[in-house]
Amino acid sequence: MNKYLLLTPGPLSTSETVKNAMLKDWCTWDDDYNINIVQAIRAKIVAIASSSTDYTSVLMQGSGTASVESALGSLISKNHKLLIINNGAYGKRIAEIADYLNLNATVLNLNETELPNPIDVENKLKEDNAITHIAMVHCETTTGMLNPISDIGVLAKQYNKTFIVDAMSSFGGIELDIANLHIDVLISSANKCIQGVPGFGFVIVKKTIIENSQGIARSLSLDLYSQWRTMEAHNGKWRFTSPTHVVRAFYQALIELEQEGGVKARFKRYKANQELLVAGMQALGFKPLLPIELHSPIITSFYSPTNTRYNFDLFYTALKEQGFVIYPGKVSNADCFRIGNIGEVYADDISRLLQAVERSRFWL
Ligand SMILES: *Cc1c(COP(=O)(O)O)cnc(C)c1O
Repeated sequence: MNKYLLLTPGPLSTSETVKNAMLKDWCTWDDDYNINIVQAIRAKIVAIASSSTDYTSVLMQGSGTASVESALGSLISKNHKLLIINNGAYGKRIAEIADYLNLNATVLNLNETELPNPIDVENKLKEDNAITHIAMVHCETTTGMLNPISDIGVLAKQYNKTFIVDAMSSFGGIELDIANLHIDVLISSANKCIQGVPGFGFVIVKKTIIENSQGIARSLSLDLYSQWRTMEAHNGKWRFTSPTHVVRAFYQALIELEQEGGVKARFKRYKANQELLVAGMQALGFKPLLPIELHSPIITSFYSPTNTRYNFDLFYTALKEQGFVIYPGKVSNADCFRIGNIGEVYADDISRLLQAVERSRFWL
């Protein structure tokens, strides 16, 4: 089998030890699993999110989107109204979920390369008193842009709104304290910056919110309240079959995050990767989509070369043959490709990638 490094925003390259942690079968009724792994994970992710004791966590089977859908569908009732800030594919996905679930929602649609302006958000809140919840993406993986959750959190607090953040591609890779940021609900998944393998997501939520959300869910299997009640009442038991191997691997990934020095150290590594990547790519003639000050350490979009001999599939294959997998672009109005630097990826790997890119510029 041809081994390659994933330079993609999830699934991503994981350590050998995380992969090895999956080589055991677990019983979902056993305390070894529920107490020592599931409950430990629930506590650890809450501790990563904040030093406050106001939060709890719920793990949910499925990809990250399932957890977003679970949170929206289980926490926003018929009497609520959701404001969605959309500046990319994942903001748009929140709007799609709201549509499927028939939520009462309004969308602030922005350009994908546009940083959301808190003044526009505040105007929406002033215009529409019915709004009770605000949802936005932290790192918009479409472009790699880091959205201003801090400013929007201040507004959420000031106007007394529940603030929901899709921090899928940033949680564990960018330091934050959700209590200080006035975030009430944060959603992420196993296979992004914590560096686990795909199979479940999680929601970190204020205890007072989840306690008061019984009966809202529109889906049986994605009922966040029931999942939380079961985990609380039965020492970490999931309602339906949990992805045991994935959960055990995630536990190992959390230990490795601690060993690396926590989120602060991981952020530093990702940031160094990203800066090395951008400098090297620019030296090879590539131009990043966003201005440098809007970059995140997670993923970077580059304009595709304008030379007519360039073709993404050929470029992708040339890099893959040299052991690197990159990502197609997702921006609707610009021809781009993306390179992620999260996962078990180090400066050395980025240097080797840059050499591979240099050898792959067949269009020159
Ligand atoms: C990866 C990602 C998701 C979830 O994607 P899945 O494919 O469902 O795991 C959601 N939001 C953002 C910002 C992401 O980066």
